[in-house]
Amino acid sequence: MQVTLYNTLTKKKEDFVPLQKEAVRIYTCGPTVYSYAHIGNFRAYIFMDNLRRTLEYNGYTLKHVMNLTDVGHLESDADEGEDKMEKAARRENKDPYEIAKFYADIFFRDMGRLHIEKPEIIAKATDHIPEMMSFVEELIKNGYAYETSRAIYFDISKLDKYPVLSNRKLDDQIAGARVEVDPEKRNPYDFAVWIKAPENHIMKWESPWGLSYPGWHLECSAMSRKYLGDVFDIHTGGVDHIPTHHENEIAQSKGCTGKIPAKIWMHVEFLQVDGGKMSKSLENTYTLDQLQEKGIEPLAYKLFCYTAHYRTKLNFTFDSALSTQKALNRLREAYVKHEEAPKMKIEENKIQSYKERFLEAINDDLNMPLAMGIVWEIARNEIKAKEWADLLLELDKVLALDLKNSKSYLETEKKVELPEEIQKMVEERKIARQNKDWAKSDELREKIEQAGYHVKDTKEGMTVEKF
Ligand code: AMP
Ligand code: ZN
Repeated sequence: MQVTLYNTLTKKKEDFVPLQKEAVRIYTCGPTVYSYAHIGNFRAYIFMDNLRRTLEYNGYTLKHVMNLTDVGHLESDADEGEDKMEKAARRENKDPYEIAKFYADIFFRDMGRLHIEKPEIIAKATDHIPEMMSFVEELIKNGYAYETSRAIYFDISKLDKYPVLSNRKLDDQIAGARVEVDPEKRNPYDFAVWIKAPENHIMKWESPWGLSYPGWHLECSAMSRKYLGDVFDIHTGGVDHIPTHHENEIAQSKGCTGKIPAKIWMHVEFLQVDGGKMSKSLENTYTLDQLQEKGIEPLAYKLFCYTAHYRTKLNFTFDSALSTQKALNRLREAYVKHEEAPKMKIEENKIQSYKERFLEAINDDLNMPLAMGIVWEIARNEIKAKEWADLLLELDKVLALDLKNSKSYLETEKKVELPEEIQKMVEERKIARQNKDWAKSDELREKIEQAGYHVKDTKEGMTVEKF
């Protein structure tokens, strides 16, 4: 079945046809590893996972690169402010490389908790300085870049068209441009591809332009080209990348190879909080750990993301995420009931029809809310049958909600630590039973059950579980 994907470049849904038979080549703008990734960031990587798994489910092999930015991402996308890595290094009194390793390790741990597949190639910016330098040299040679006393800039006026991805008019960009940081810039909207390091900049390399470091936009252009070639299939990122980062990646590639580097550009909308953007600079972010403390598992957050299409904004509230946690447990319970049931000779065409509807949903620009609707229909089937469990497992190749381990998630959920007052009643009840004080034992059982816990007396003793 045909996969269709929305392309920001053409502003329409397009039939996906890979450029090469061997593999679909994808580049994803990865995290800047200067702080904990928040759940907004993870919405972007959950979307990336949906894309990967949808393509794989359709039989494609992937060659997917994701970068880790560990130098050169300034506080503002418009060449202003401090390098985020260096700011973090000063804040934490550590080496920027230590900072990068610390946050990258946590990022991958969290990717694992979300069951997000790791791209085939992880490219760290500081491991690719020579490739980046050659890219800048080519830009200068082709007449698309020039040197000032502060940086090497890309000369936007040399392009036939800029911008190509966003709807912003160049006039708006000039009007919106902040304080001019370098008076030697030819056009206010030229951007730095390579930056000369001020005395106190820690991360810097010898280059034909003195001690300096790469600009964030250039990093992605150089690394995508190294692994995926001049033109690859899909480039992904967040909507915030459209007006500057991706626009500038396209400009750089056109200056170097004459081509737009990817055929399809896909962008995930923002996760919001209280109706506004969730971002580190606004200090309104949550991490997966903070969700977990409130009883929301990483996989429940993943399911929460499936409540909206990736191209629409999604508003986060703890109440709605807690409802998704309950929904995830209901889905697990439904799976277990089917899993424990015998085969019921369900007609093959019924199973096939669910599979087709699911495929149609995911192949239609990754329509996860629609796909989940079909999953719920299967889960809620009145007839409990092993066939439905097998089908859910098959579809979980795309959803990646780890349904096969449903039973153990439900068991751990029930074995949560008992609150102090319940624990006290449990201890009292044990004593009452030892003393054969059945009236007291029954009274305590009632109290514990009223508090929402189920008491079971077995040969091994008493067990108390959450209802
Ligand atoms: P950063 O580490 O800040 O470069 O961001 C990593 C990724 O997270 C990028 O793809 C951003 O577009 C994306 N991102 C940042 N904030 C949000 C948000 N609130 N919702 C969805 N994606 C986001
Ligand atoms: Zn990028």
